[in-house]
Amino acid sequence: MSLTLNYNPDNIFAKIIAGDMPATKIWETDDILAFMDVFPQSDGHCLVVHKKAQAANLLDIDPQALGTLILGVKKVAAAVAAGLKPDGIRIAQFNGSSAGQTVFHLHFHIIPVYDNVPLSAHHGAAQDGPTPADILEPVAQKIVEAL
Ligand code: 5GP
Repeated sequence: MSLTLNYNPDNIFAKIIAGDMPATKIWETDDILAFMDVFPQSDGHCLVVHKKAQAANLLDIDPQALGTLILGVKKVAAAVAAGLKPDGIRIAQFNGSSAGQTVFHLHFHIIPVYDNVPLSAHHGAAQDGPTPADILEPVAQKIVEAL
């Protein structure tokens, strides 16, 4: 999908925000939602979205909403650090399908990195299917407790 196409509200993250699709949630405010990625690249891989800003990518969002969103990313990343104690944290964000974006509602990836543990492929390329909620839940709980 092009960098410049209009936001399409019929995307999976919009449905999660609306409560029409399930997600293992970590943190939610009026503006921000953080939830576990169902094709995690590492243990604790989660996503942070703005609930109200209808932005397909970083270029679409207004500065104030982006400020709120990035502060949410920092808060959740700090909780990932404290709760899961990874050796590093990768923050990733893709714009346009050519760059690897697959869901066209702006989101930031928080990907804990553990020494000597290779990351899985982006978007489950090497996985059988989505990770079940009962596997994600205990990891999410450690992050929640560190918020
Ligand atoms: P993108 O490729 O757009 O940067 O990232 C989209 C992310 O959403 C991927 O890491 C992918 O694993 C994740 N994802 C795709 N479908 C779902 C879903 O239904 N629920 C959740 N929680 N994550 C999803």
